[in-house]
Amino acid sequence: MPRASAEAPAETRSDDNPAGATASVRTRRIREFARDVLGYESFRPGQEAAMQAVVSGRDTLAVLPSGAGKTAIYQVAGQLLDGPVVVVSPLIALQRDQVERLTELEEQAGAAAQLNSTLSAGDQREALDGLRDGTVRYLFLAPEQLAKPDVVEALAAAAPALFVVDEAHCVSAWGHDFRPDYLRLGNAAEQLGSPTVLGLTATAAPPVRAEIVERLGMTDPEIVVAGFDRPEIRLEVDHHADAHGKEQGVLDRVLAEIGDGRGPGIVYSATRKGTETIADELRERGLRARHYHAGLNKGDREETQRVWMEDELDVVVATTAFGMGIDKPDTRFVIHSEPADSIDSYYQEIGRAGRDGEPALAVLVYRQEDLGLRRFFAAGTPAEEELQQVAGLVAAAPAAGLEDGVNVKTLREETGRAATPLVRDLNLLEQVAAVVLDEEGAAHPAQGAPPPGAAAEQARELAEHHEKVDQSRVEMMRGYAETTECRRQFLLGYFGEQLDEPCGNCDNCSAGTAQENPGPDDHDTPFPVETPVEHSEWGNGVVMRVEDDRLTVLFDEVGYKTLGLAAVVENDLLRTRP
Ligand SMILES: [Zn+2]
Repeated sequence: MPRASAEAPAETRSDDNPAGATASVRTRRIREFARDVLGYESFRPGQEAAMQAVVSGRDTLAVLPSGAGKTAIYQVAGQLLDGPVVVVSPLIALQRDQVERLTELEEQAGAAAQLNSTLSAGDQREALDGLRDGTVRYLFLAPEQLAKPDVVEALAAAAPALFVVDEAHCVSAWGHDFRPDYLRLGNAAEQLGSPTVLGLTATAAPPVRAEIVERLGMTDPEIVVAGFDRPEIRLEVDHHADAHGKEQGVLDRVLAEIGDGRGPGIVYSATRKGTETIADELRERGLRARHYHAGLNKGDREETQRVWMEDELDVVVATTAFGMGIDKPDTRFVIHSEPADSIDSYYQEIGRAGRDGEPALAVLVYRQEDLGLRRFFAAGTPAEEELQQVAGLVAAAPAAGLEDGVNVKTLREETGRAATPLVRDLNLLEQVAAVVLDEEGAAHPAQGAPPPGAAAEQARELAEHHEKVDQSRVEMMRGYAETTECRRQFLLGYFGEQLDEPCGNCDNCSAGTAQENPGPDDHDTPFPVETPVEHSEWGNGVVMRVEDDRLTVLFDEVGYKTLGLAAVVENDLLRTRP
């Protein structure tokens, strides 16, 4: 049983729960509604556990992959709660979709409405009034709406029963999807009378989860992580000592798969040049191969997507630009000629194989040196003077009569620097609350912004933190490539979903090295998984993984580090924290 998912709730009565006095009554009602209204024959992994937790009034974080039915959780739970549901969602298009879907079910489910800046004042008023008088059961809004005191007041008056935060990982500075608007959501929930909070995300790295829980102010939350396992994908890593051997290894793998009729497939290369070279080599060997990267013109890219979808290719050799929004369920293999920048990216990329549920293959063709590729850290840490100059120009904009803010074009003219680092600087300054970016990407001074010098210092520190974290993510990729244990246990463990037995469908399981290692719980170690620890140099962290002779710890400041257990014990490097 996955450790993070719901325990069977005790059959204690709580007569004031509108969803049902006991867990079994609530279970029956959840199932009835899901079947009768949504047409569910069965639940996807994690869905029912999350619904159960929410209707028993418990704050819940549901970490489920894309397409795993996260919206059904609040659609169903919302039916059994005594009060409306407020859903915060960053994308207006997504809000519109949800409202339309719920409107189709209006008779059984109650009306849905949205609240965002594209609506007229009258429509906004109507949505809030509807929520208060009970005609609107689901209200979708953009996070910035919660900055408006009158909106918060109107929402509070409606006494919502459930506060849903979609794309909850946007609250975390760990990811690259951070949205400053999300930082106010914890406070907002409190102002709304502390309804049950439901966070939803598909990005499950443990530090992101911890930050979501903290920043949304969740109390003793149920954390449901499920559905990440893709047992149909066989996992393999091919090790090579030198660059030439590795290139040959990639070609051999592709030729073997296609030769045995196990195509089509995707080869991911880290560089545009790499995609061209590999595609050329494969064509020379008689395969139908094309390369794809963001530097090609739109016509070429669309043509490659079209022939790929229409089964006219054996292989696409691509950068990670290929894949988003391109769904070919019968993709039989994904081969990486270089490691991805993180386990998160890697798992997403190999997940494009075998979506039809038939056997598929993921191979990482690995050379240790590739982990050091400059591409991972190409941006580097920006200079403080440059950040200060940008912050100063934005701060001076209102006085200079620039009411539309400062855009990148203006900054280029003023600083003589290129667009890419300027955009990065603006994003960093936004994250330290020095500037606000509008929908056109123009920068305005934030309310209560620190002076440019202080803002620049904070932004540089944040950039350094990002860089350390990015490096530590690469280290986890090394861990995956070099482990002798079951690779699926490694991957799922990273996402916080425990697989009790070795999978039997990875190269280490086949070679017999995986079975020899006991599971993490069986290790006789002073530092079991999830122990909070303190390191003399790296500060506080949490043990993420235990192997025979080493530990992987996730530190708040420096990210993942792997430590030899003998050295830890001998030199007293780690202390457990209470
Ligand atoms: Zn395995």
